[in-house]
Amino acid sequence: MTLEEAIGILEKDIHTDPPKSAITARKHDKAILMALKALEKQISKKPIERFTGNEYVCECPICHGETYTPNEVEIQSIQYCSWCGQKLDWRHK
Ligand SMILES: [Zn+2]
Repeated sequence: MTLEEAIGILEKDIHTDPPKSAITARKHDKAILMALKALEKQISKKPIERFTGNEYVCECPICHGETYTPNEVEIQSIQYCSWCGQKLDWRHK
């Protein structure tokens, strides 16, 4: 199962407008939203490259936390944003 398929399945499980008294349903929805947020961070996103005037820095597309541009070896160790945990896609395409 791909991450996108898992997200699609979980999204269908969210209740549409549950009544305030339906505490279990609301907790269930909250748990699903937390899971979705975590799953979405596993889908790699391209960092935003920016030149500051003397060096290239990369910015997380989600939280805009900065990291430096890793070299080919370091890419393996910087697979995730160190600020928010977003998976980063360093491939050049
Ligand atoms: Zn981030």
